[in-house]
Amino acid sequence: MRRKLAAGNWKMNGLSAELAEVEALCAAHPDPKVDLLIAPPATLISSMVVTASDHRLAVAGQDCHAEESGAHTGDISAQMLKDAGASHVILGHSERREDHNESDDDVRSKARTALAAGLKIIICIGESLEEREAANTLDIIAGQLAGSLPDILTGENTIIAYEPIWAIGTGKVPTLGQIGEVHDFIRTKLEARFGEGVGRSIRLLYGGSVKPSNASDIFAVSNVDGALVGGASLKASDFSGIIKALEDAI
Ligand code: PEP
Repeated sequence: MRRKLAAGNWKMNGLSAELAEVEALCAAHPDPKVDLLIAPPATLISSMVVTASDHRLAVAGQDCHAEESGAHTGDISAQMLKDAGASHVILGHSERREDHNESDDDVRSKARTALAAGLKIIICIGESLEEREAANTLDIIAGQLAGSLPDILTGENTIIAYEPIWAIGTGKVPTLGQIGEVHDFIRTKLEARFGEGVGRSIRLLYGGSVKPSNASDIFAVSNVDGALVGGASLKASDFSGIIKALEDAI
């Protein structure tokens, strides 16, 4: 049985004052029926870990370097995230793939390093609007899965987020049929590559303009085990609505 997960990605948003949102979120969900996670900017990881310490809220990094350490000014290593108290790291978000030219190979290398450091990984994949309109979505997803996932993963240490690039931060959401088609496809691919046991145990999140108002419909789609939420994770009241919808979907 896969546990549902509501994960928030704060991207390059959040100063110390926004820890009040995390306090409010934890107060609103003292005993959540689903797993909760927030990936704040690296500057807030340590303090968010303290804020969340008595609560069931995991804290994640938003990226890490593929090397363990070294001369990489401005980068952050997997061990540093772990040392700061993070339990997970998001890898291969489309904004990293676009802004920093990250390839599937880069994501796979980072994934290996993150797992070796004891972090759990959230690997993001998703097609562009052009790729969807050209009916290439499933080919793109298959390629990203093949290229970005390391061979050593398990259902315990790996989560996959399907995030159509054209739905991120745009307010546009695929149809429920489109979400279901891709999630079922990912599940089939995972079972084929990693075996039924592991393939069935990896959680699949949907990401892209999830809000309290559309969350229930999305969570009813097969093979959707939760959401990776950007904008609507910044305010406790919005994220809380999504968490409640996910709890209702159990
Ligand atoms: C994201 O950044 O992963 C995301 C899904 O953003 P949003 O919810 O704002 O579309």
